[in-house]
Parts: sequence; structure tokens; C-alpha cells
Amino acid sequence: MATRSDPLPALVEAIAAALPARRPLPLHAPVLGAAEKARLAACIDSGYVSSIGPEVEAFEHALREFTGLPGVTATVNGSAALHLALRLAGVRPGDEVLMPALTFVGSANAVAACGARPRFVDVSAETLAVDPAALEAHLQATTRRAGDGLYDRRTGNRIAALMVVHCLGHLGAMEALAALARTWGLPLVEDAAEALGSRRPQGHAGAWGLASALSFNGNKIITTGGGGALLSPDPDLARRARHLATTAKQPHPWAFRHDAVAFNYRMPNLNAALGLAQMRRLPLHLEAKASLEAAYRLSLARVPGARLFAAPPGSRPNRWLQLLLLDDPDLRDPLLGALHARGLLARPLWEPLHRAPMYAHCTRAPLPVTVDLHARGICLPSGADLVEAA
Ligand SMILES: *Cc1c(COP(=O)(O)O)cnc(C)c1O
Repeated sequence: MATRSDPLPALVEAIAAALPARRPLPLHAPVLGAAEKARLAACIDSGYVSSIGPEVEAFEHALREFTGLPGVTATVNGSAALHLALRLAGVRPGDEVLMPALTFVGSANAVAACGARPRFVDVSAETLAVDPAALEAHLQATTRRAGDGLYDRRTGNRIAALMVVHCLGHLGAMEALAALARTWGLPLVEDAAEALGSRRPQGHAGAWGLASALSFNGNKIITTGGGGALLSPDPDLARRARHLATTAKQPHPWAFRHDAVAFNYRMPNLNAALGLAQMRRLPLHLEAKASLEAAYRLSLARVPGARLFAAPPGSRPNRWLQLLLLDDPDLRDPLLGALHARGLLARPLWEPLHRAPMYAHCTRAPLPVTVDLHARGICLPSGADLVEAA
């Protein structure tokens, strides 16, 4: 029952006031129009709709230009790109990969696809990504180094890599994390699925890792229907990813010769055609999302009981999803209920992965920040279509 101190009605009003009047408003709808239809029609007319075609190369070129990263291989989805990134980082069956529990399940599934297991570490309340201090404390307390690698002191399992996830498009403290990875001899992989367009002064998401993965799923900042890309500062690594994504087929005009067990992970040309139209919209999406954040911030400024997450100074996130952090975790589900009743389809953060049955037995560090953010966080409707000029 509402009391005079119940902050819920004022929060619902403030959120609704920042948004257009139409209902329902999904969490993140794609923006598609005449440009996408024209690109798709031209692609169909060309006959090149599958895994060979000029649109894939043009899309990869556009991604290279936009991110400044020289190695780009487009894939069927972000999960496939992440699987390739981990494989090429040297993750093997029986290994463990350091990663956050506060992420989409696809991050952990890519580790499992290598036959490896997640090893969960906590995130930072400032960045939402892996916390360098918590990571270092965990490494000092639980691991030992031997000539060729890093091992769990108790189980003897090899710890093969560090995977940082740029949560909701917010970049981690990448200089500190990259320095730690170097010190401990761990290859660094970035799950940048949510972070196309996110930058720090030193570079775009993906600039620190050996390899990283983007996603172009329908709910991401741009979409190819389904799709992803492996990015790397090393063009040769991206070439090896392309080979593995193309059933390791040796280039030849007619012969079918394959030189490794590999995957059918290349992005089809049809999806790349959609991606080319979407890349033209990306700068507008970034602007629209900055305007939406400003509108939420203004609207929520004087409402008690919650605050909008803000990126640390110096970071330029893509603002994929807006995160509202409530003071009182008991308010989260009632607020989600009230917003859904108004057609505002907000969502909680993902259930932390150490609670998922298939990952519950994985080794983990203490995860207090992960648990707290999950308990108090609500992702607000955040699509680029929620601002008039988009
Ligand atoms: C979307 C997403 C993925 C997976 O991408 P798909 O294209 O859906 O396979 C992986 N990690 C994170 C953090 C994501 O948000």
C-alpha cells in the first residue's frame, strides 16, 4: 500500500515523463526503414545471399573504419565470435576462464563451447565490468604460477584467459585490466557484444584485448538480424578466425580441402547488407542515446529512491541500456510491475551466472557487488527510436 514515503509512484511518473507517449515501449527495439529494405532488395537481386558476397567485405571494412581496429571477421552471431576469440586466445578443454557473473549467459556459454569453465570474479560498481582490485586479490589468494601458465592452487586447473565484459556498453578500467593480464601472463579477451561505439581516450572497445566480440542481434545498438564480429588489433589473428569460421577451407577455385576441425560461423551476405544500412545510422543512434540519457537524468533528478548509473569520467559509452539503481532492493520487482502495467517494458539485470544450474559449481571469488547491482538494478527502455530525431 502506498504511503507518503513510497517513492514508487514518483519514480514511475519520472520515467514515463522522459519517454514518448506511445505504448508499449520495448526495452530496445531495432530501427529499420527504407535504407535497409533497399540494401536487402539489392542483395537479393545480386543472387549473393549466403556466406560469399561483397556485402560481407564492405561491412567488415565499415567496422574497421569505425572502430580503428585492423582485424575484423564478421560471424553468424556474437556468441560464435566470442567462441573463436577464446579459441584463438588458447583456451582448451579443462581450462578455466576468469570472467564476471554479471553478464548475458552467452558469455559463459562461449567458454563452455571451448570445453572450459567460467571462473567468476566480481565487478566494479564504477564501471560494471570486472574490478581490477578484486581480480588481483583473487589471483593472489588462489593461484600459483608455473613455467607455462597460471594454475588454481587447490585443484591444479589451468587458468587460461581473462574475459572482460563491457556491461550495457560501459567499458571496464581497461588500462588496469590489461596491465594485470600482462603481469599474470593471461591473454585478454573482450566481450564487446554490447559496446559497439563505446570508447575511452585510448581506443574503441576491443583495442586492449588479443581479440574481442561484437553482437548485431536484434536488441543491440545496430542489428544485422543475427550477427557478430571478431575484432582484433592483430589482422593475422582475424585472418585465422576467418579461416576457422569458414570450415578451415583452403582457398581454391574448385577443390574442397580443409585443414582443421572448424566451424560454419561466417556471416551471410544478406545479414551484412542489413549491417551496411545500419552502420549509416550508428552515429545517429549514439546521439539519440545521449539525448535519452539526458532526458532520464533531468526527469529523475529530484526523485528520491534511485539514481541513474553514470559512466566514470573519460569514458564515452554507447549507452546501450540505461541502468536505474534503486536504494531499496525490495522496490525492484514492484517497480518492474508498475512499469509493465504502464506498457514500459523495463527489465532486471541478468540473473548472475553463478546462480545458473550449469555454472553453479564453477570456482568463484566473493561477488558482493555483482549481487548488489543485480538486486537493485533496472534496465529502462533505451532504444534509439525513443528520441524524436532518430
Ligand atoms: C548479446 C550478447 C552476447 C551474444 O551475442 P549473440 O549475437 O546473441 O550471440 C554475448 N555477450 C553479451 C554480453 C551479449 O550482450
